[in-house]
Order: sequence, then C-alpha cells, then structure tokens
Amino acid sequence: MDPQISLTYAKQLDFFKTGMTKKLPYRKQVLKKLKKVIEKREDDICNALYSDFKKPKFESLVSETQFVLAELNHILANIHFWARAKKVSGSLGSFPSKDWIQYEPFGRVLVISPWNYPFMLAISPLIGAVAAGNTVTLKPSELSPATSRILKEIIDEAFDSNHVSVVEGGVEVAQELLSNAWDYIFFTGSTRVGKIVYQSAAKHLTPVTLELGGKNPCIVDDSASISVAAKRITWGKLLNAGQTCLAPDYILVHNQVKHQLVEEIKKTIQQFYGEDVEASPHLARIATENQYKRLKSMLKDEKVIWGGQFNDTDQYIAPTLIDSPAFDSKVMEDEIFGPVLPIYGYDSQEEIDSFVSKFGKPLALYVFSKRSKFQKEMTRNHSFGGGAINDCVMHIANKHLPFGGIGNSGFGGYHGEHSFYLFSHKKAMVKRPFLFDIPVRYPPYRLAETIVKKLKNIL
Ligand code: NAD
Repeated sequence: MDPQISLTYAKQLDFFKTGMTKKLPYRKQVLKKLKKVIEKREDDICNALYSDFKKPKFESLVSETQFVLAELNHILANIHFWARAKKVSGSLGSFPSKDWIQYEPFGRVLVISPWNYPFMLAISPLIGAVAAGNTVTLKPSELSPATSRILKEIIDEAFDSNHVSVVEGGVEVAQELLSNAWDYIFFTGSTRVGKIVYQSAAKHLTPVTLELGGKNPCIVDDSASISVAAKRITWGKLLNAGQTCLAPDYILVHNQVKHQLVEEIKKTIQQFYGEDVEASPHLARIATENQYKRLKSMLKDEKVIWGGQFNDTDQYIAPTLIDSPAFDSKVMEDEIFGPVLPIYGYDSQEEIDSFVSKFGKPLALYVFSKRSKFQKEMTRNHSFGGGAINDCVMHIANKHLPFGGIGNSGFGGYHGEHSFYLFSHKKAMVKRPFLFDIPVRYPPYRLAETIVKKLKNIL
C-alpha cells in the first residue's frame, strides 16, 4: 500500500476522533475559508478547465465555480437548522418519553469524481460531507489533470490535511483507496466503474452513493412550442460539448413535428455558434482522446442530417444530428456523452413507452408538451432520477431538489440539505424518566398478550 495513502487514512481517523469535525462553528469556519480560496482562485480554476478541454469561461462560471459558491452560501446559511436534532412524536409503548433524530457524521468519507465537470463534481459532494462533520479524502479524475492539480492546491490551502485531503492519481490509486474500510463512499462516474466501487464497499459494509449516467430521453409532442424546445434542447445537449450526465441523449419527437424540430435545431446551432461552429469559442472540446475516438467512430455509417465534422488536432466533434440510428448501433449501445444527437419520430404513446424502457432507468427524462395529461403520463409512467417539463438540465440548478439517479443511473440524492442528510447517520433516540415503569412488558407475561392485542392499533 502507498505509504502516503495509509498515512492520510490513519491521520483522518485520529482527527475525527478529536471531535473537531463535530463542532458546528469549526465546520462553518472551514467552509468559509474554502469559499474565500475558491473566490480568490476562480480565474485559475476557469483557466485549468480551459486547458483541460477548452471549456468556455461562461460555462465554467455557471456550472462549476459559481454553482459551488452558491451551494456553499446555502449550506452556511442553513447548516445550523439542518444539524439540530429533530423531535418526533413518542409512541404509547414507551410513554412517557422524548424522541428525536440526532444527526451525526459517518466518519471518514471517500469521494471519487469524474472528468466531465471536474471541479463541481469534486467539490459539491465534498462540502456536503464536511458540512455533516466528516473528514474527506478526494480522488479527482486523472483525465482532467489541470483541474485536478488546482483542486489539490485549493484543498491544501483551505483545510488541515488531516481533515480534508486530495489524492491524485488514476485507476490504481482509486483501487488502492477503495481497499480501505471507509465510513462512506461517494462515487460519480460510469455505471461500469460504479459496480466495481459498490463491490469494494460491500467488503466492508460501507454505505455508498453512486452518481452514474444513462441514456436520457427527451420527448417532444406535437403541442410543444417547437422553437423554444429547440433552443432548450440544443443548449442542454451542447453545454460542455454534450459531456454532461444530464444531457438529453436522444430525442423522441411526434412525427407531425419532427421535420420542424430538426430545422429549428439546425437554425439554433447556427445562432449559438455562428456559421463556422468550429471557430466558436463557446463550444468545448472532447476532453479525452478515448472519448474522442469513441464519438468519431459513432459517426461512421450513420445517417447524419447535420454536422458530422471532426478535427483530430483539438478533438473537435461538430454538433451532429443523426436520423433514427439502429438500436444495435454504436450511438445507441451506451450513453453518448458528446455533441451527437439521435432523433426518432413516434406516432403513439405506446411507441414512446416501449422505446424508453429499452435502456434501463435513466438519470433524467425531459418532456416538452403543453398537454398536462401527457406531461403527467410521461413523468409517472417512467422511472428516472429527475427531470424537467419543457426544459432540460435545469432541475440540477435548484438546490432544494435532490440530485441523483435510480437503478442503472445510481442511487442517493444530494445538494443543499439533501447532501447534509446524505452524509449524516440518523441516530434514533428515546429518552425516558425513571418514573412510570409499567411492568406489563416484563416476564412473566400474564396480561401482556391481551393488552398487546388491544393496543396494537395505537402502539
Ligand atoms: P469513470 O467511471 O471512468 O471514472 C470516474 C472515476 O473513477 C475517476 O476518478 C477514475 O479515476 C475512477 N476509476 C476509473 N476506473 C476505475 C476502476 N476500475 N476502479 C476504481 N476507480 C476507477 O467515469 P468518467 O469517464 O470519469 O466520467 C464519465 C461518466 O460519469 C459518465 O458515465 C457520466 O454519465 C457519469 N457522470 C455521472 C454524473 C452524475 O452526477 N450522475 C455526473 C457526471 C458524470
């Protein structure tokens, strides 16, 4: 075992045992310090993201730094309410008593994060875990090295390393970290690696949150405002060049409006990025060579109705629309995770239901329609992590909503108070006076059976 990893692991236990992280003023103090360091280094963070995959500065601010700062403000303003023990009603069986839920940290938390929102997806769970009083070891992605480096610098400046530390490295380092008995593991990444993480955690009965991906359907019926839908879908798909776990993966559009939607999306791409899309500074590049090659190979043999260009020099893939690729094509075998958008027409609701159910439970589902019955049926008939009606991706922007998947797309929801409760053990407590020690429950059980049957509805 890497001596540095074992040292960090051991020291975090010592630090946790001091009880410092259980003190609310201490948690607030370190989160405030983190906020200051992020504010100070905001330009450096944006530059690191640009260096990793030419992420446009506006997107870095909105979806990485300012997103995290807003979350920090929200936590700092509310943590003392969330951390209070919550009174609950007592039960007749233990009358008289005071009953409450007490929130306590799990202990040592391991966070493993991916490359696609490399700053936000590392810091956002980390601040939830710290707010709840845990120590944290963060392993950011090796595939966004500049952001990984700056994450380390920021965490080193903001925290005592015995409390929070960053361990950089790739798969071997992640596996080494996973061989330890953590008190909680929070993983964001692919479904494939999620299964590996879950297996490692099971060896120590460690609780886990898995934030995974999936093929997110985007359903457009013939009552929708097609021009608005086209703008919102194009934005949601091309943000971060499609490398977003919440991006619409494919469109299912009513055949009556399919042509109109395709034309509107083409027009919108040009409005957003100009005639020469490749020259636009507003579209990110594909972050890794493997992902680039995977996406490029998807375009072969498909009926491309718009885009399809690529450039090896900076891993550019043009926004690309594909008409009805086969189910067994590369485009449909897994989540796309790039600026490639398949579009299928449908005629009946049954077609939608059978189509969506082919791909497991997605992280998100979007429905564009003015018909409330259709909106309800789409959002109730299908199981998915979260979603939006008449928009894409925006549910992640509301800190009051839990963010997470279901089934194939993971489990456990976080952000805001949901993060606090996710990283807290809910200790059930009952406090009784010594008075009123009713003997019925003690052996020998004479009247107990009769009384229990009579009281069963109120116990
Ligand atoms: P990934 O699963 O390849 O890697 C994620 C992390 O796991 C990295 O830190 C990596 O070093 C580590 N890792 C890789 N292989 C490992 C192994 N064998 N054992 C242990 N650790 C290992 O994911 P990625 O390619 O970095 O990210 C893209 C994926 O993440 C997509 O599937 C996307 O949908 C998903 N994602 C999900 C969310 C969400 O919130 N649900 C957000 C962003 C990305």
